[in-house]
Amino acid sequence: MNVHRAYQYRLYPTPAQEAALTWTLDRCRELYNAGLEERRGAYRTGGILINSTIQQRQLPGVKNVRPEYKHIGSQVLQDVLQRLDRAFAGFFRRVKAGQTPGFPRFKSRDRYNSFTFKQTGWSLDSIHRRLYLAGIGNLKVRWSRPLEGTIKTVTVRRDANQWHVCFSCLVDIPDVSPDAAKPAVGIDVGLEHFATLSTGEHIANPRLFRLGQDLLTRRSRTMARKQRGSKRRQKAKLLVAKAHRKVRNQRKDFHHKTAKTLVDGHRLIAVEQLHITNLVRRPAPILATTDAGSSCYAPNGATAKSGLAKSIYDAGWGQFLMILTHKAAEAGVVLVAVNPAGTSQICSGCGAKVPKPLTERWHRCEHCGCFLQRDVNAAFNILRAGQARQAGA
Ligand SMILES: [Zn+2]
Repeated sequence: MNVHRAYQYRLYPTPAQEAALTWTLDRCRELYNAGLEERRGAYRTGGILINSTIQQRQLPGVKNVRPEYKHIGSQVLQDVLQRLDRAFAGFFRRVKAGQTPGFPRFKSRDRYNSFTFKQTGWSLDSIHRRLYLAGIGNLKVRWSRPLEGTIKTVTVRRDANQWHVCFSCLVDIPDVSPDAAKPAVGIDVGLEHFATLSTGEHIANPRLFRLGQDLLTRRSRTMARKQRGSKRRQKAKLLVAKAHRKVRNQRKDFHHKTAKTLVDGHRLIAVEQLHITNLVRRPAPILATTDAGSSCYAPNGATAKSGLAKSIYDAGWGQFLMILTHKAAEAGVVLVAVNPAGTSQICSGCGAKVPKPLTERWHRCEHCGCFLQRDVNAAFNILRAGQARQAGA
């Protein structure tokens, strides 16, 4: 079985190499923004869609006007234009789904952080353990784990003051299927806990996230006090980026470990299909009339919801699901995403509807006497729906 795997390593460029990397990033970003401008113009004035195939044909012309682009590999530049394709595809997908996404945006220096090589423009020196990149040189790499499979793309990424390389590989792994004796499990995403299993077990939200978030908030405030364009602001900005990186890495690590434990212990995992965008959207204001007859804004749950949204962001369920999907596929574990509608309101014991507000943490069924924690009841229902779907498939 062939699977895609990403291997990331830290790079240690010399000052000259770092300057070359930054220069390449800046040129790629410039091209991205120019390509975006062209597409926006064509779309807004005539509803015309321009894609990367059309824009790629203009690359030789670009190189004539701006000879510095000759120093960057054609595939790297093509990839920049393909990123625009993805940005627009995402935009139209959200429009189609009835959402109101923002039009793809121009990227500032802080928001354009990587460029990608495909088959050419790079090589690996197995003797000196260096990575050669055309136009940059031989880079020192910290090989923190073995690189396996066939390399499909090589992406260089800037992360605040660090540089990383990510090899996207196709790896041939032996086909495996999990032990049929292993149990099936349903998982409910929570706010109180990161997740609750149908076994009654809770997976806690690591406190580290909150601590990291606090540090991030503090440092962002410090940065906001510094004068724009000043040296001190630059320094403060780096600290903010470092705090971000720490939170991100801790979360990813937690997701990997949790997903591994779940995949190792089960033959089937049922999860809720979550539409995170619906939860983080700002609730609409509600206009009400006071007793005196004047208009006012009624409570619309904005604060509660932003707290909720924040927790969901914190829990990072989307990233976790992606990691879980990946690991499950590699281990032959069945992962079923079920419709979350009603999972918390239906009794897992008898199927009766037991309505309860979000604040009610317990499920009490007067029909069958079932008494469970709200999340555990939901996890049961998710498991059952997942098993039903799998039996039907
Ligand atoms: Zn019941």
